[in-house]
Amino acid sequence: MTRDVIVRDVGPRDGLQLVKAVVPTETKLDWIRADVAAGVPEIEVCSFVPAHIIPQFADAVDVATEAAKIPDLTASALTPNLKGAQIGFTTGISKINYVMSVSETHNQKNVRRTRAESLEGFRAIVAARDADPNLKGVKIGIGLATSLGCTLEGNVPESETLSLLEQVLEAGADEVMLPDTVGYAHPTQVRSLFSKAIPICGDVPVWTHFHDTRGLGIANALAALETGCIRFDASLAGLGGCPFAPGATGNIALEDLVFLLESEGLKTGVDLEALAVARAIVEAALPDERKFGMILKAGLPKGFVPASQIAAE
Ligand code: ZN
Repeated sequence: MTRDVIVRDVGPRDGLQLVKAVVPTETKLDWIRADVAAGVPEIEVCSFVPAHIIPQFADAVDVATEAAKIPDLTASALTPNLKGAQIGFTTGISKINYVMSVSETHNQKNVRRTRAESLEGFRAIVAARDADPNLKGVKIGIGLATSLGCTLEGNVPESETLSLLEQVLEAGADEVMLPDTVGYAHPTQVRSLFSKAIPICGDVPVWTHFHDTRGLGIANALAALETGCIRFDASLAGLGGCPFAPGATGNIALEDLVFLLESEGLKTGVDLEALAVARAIVEAALPDERKFGMILKAGLPKGFVPASQIAAE
């Protein structure tokens, strides 16, 4: 089907990275398959980080290898370094998302490197991909964490984010994400950043990634949509957090984002009733975690027809 907007479930990565209960590989894959059955086009399925740092991702190779085989799915994975990318390259996954922070302090805490070192690391991953003809189809994205604020440095000047954005484009980014890692952003700020970033990026896709820590996540998604952004991260049941953002809740809930976009007349390709199957898997797997997302609890409004179900004229 044709989609007007692309939603990505980052729950199996961002949602699970702070969850203490290790979710079995098969359960993760059931969640991923249920997402795809509901029409979710892209999923960030894991993070390639050492198991002693995040035990949840000890099975990252298995999850990525299986996810890469699922038809109609763009499976992506996060990595903070070349080693993780090289492991990712062996799994057949079609997209590797690198991460570094606009905030120097957050970058040091999160990946224990300076921003300059992180940029070098990104260039090395792009070079490794380019050197191997078998990896021709693999996209290398980059998320600029703390693009809209930092719990350690506070305000992150827009000029800093845009300057780093230009540097990563020059370094060969196929896609960029401008995450509100800690839930500091508000709609005016989002409108301002995205309306400048999208023209700078040209043909390079720009993704949003809003944590709902202070309740403005969905409003921020709408603000980004108004600037022409059509790619949105979210997490099923709103799972997630950030190790350096105390009290941080997860991403905006995927189901509420889909409801917003469909209400705006935009085809996501996602069937909310089918997405409830995926949510039930998450609820059963993580009974002790807080879950967010209103639409699947309250039900669709009577008579509501999602844009994706309106036949093309
Ligand atoms: Zn996040």
